[in-house]
Amino acid sequence: MGHHEPHESLLSGPDAQSRLRAVIPYRNDEPGLRRDGSQKVRRGQKFLVVTNRKLVQASEAFDHADEAEEFQAVGMRCRECLLALVRELTQGSDLDEGEDLPKAGDFPPWNERIANAIAPGDPMEYVRGYLKTTGERGWRLVNWLTHANNATRHDAELGLSATSHIVSNYASAVLKRRAGAPERCGRCKSYRITVDWHPELGLYVPRCEACGAVKMPVLRHAGRKQKSRSSHRNTSPA
Ligand SMILES: [Zn+2]
Repeated sequence: MGHHEPHESLLSGPDAQSRLRAVIPYRNDEPGLRRDGSQKVRRGQKFLVVTNRKLVQASEAFDHADEAEEFQAVGMRCRECLLALVRELTQGSDLDEGEDLPKAGDFPPWNERIANAIAPGDPMEYVRGYLKTTGERGWRLVNWLTHANNATRHDAELGLSATSHIVSNYASAVLKRRAGAPERCGRCKSYRITVDWHPELGLYVPRCEACGAVKMPVLRHAGRKQKSRSSHRNTSPA
């Protein structure tokens, strides 16, 4: 399995585009699930595909932008990216259930919902506040950028940076929540839990970066193409 690549930090990439590609630490180019067995977990779900594409488009638009209207277009791409983000983070989850759901194009209340879900309770007050404020301020910034006649290249860069930061703030926390990843490894107690895309299973699977334990999901029918390498360390970190 060649998907355990080290993930670059947000700021370590050599240029804007690789930096943005590194924001979302999972592969979107894997083939989809070929097998559709009965299961307890959702299979074949690719995460943040549209968000990732919009972010790359925004980055490409920025690379070629020289005029105010082109900087505004970067803002449009960023705006689309943030709306795709809240849609993809919430759809098919409990965040997308209940009454009084916000409208699809209304980013701020979705931002509140997501922050409340991934950083709940008194101990998370400051994390939650930061996530909400950052999301809401970034949203306002890119909306301003879309019609700012005096926009500069720096403004567009700031909007792009804010957008990728918001994606980064939410992506791994929501993915871990969806994949049922524990806070700590059940075997070695490390907090270094990550989530990998397993194309042969069509699943994201929690893994301990410290000891290598993986938390394989309970499937009623195991994937036909399950590879042997994962089985010898098939120790649940939960
Ligand atoms: Zn471990």
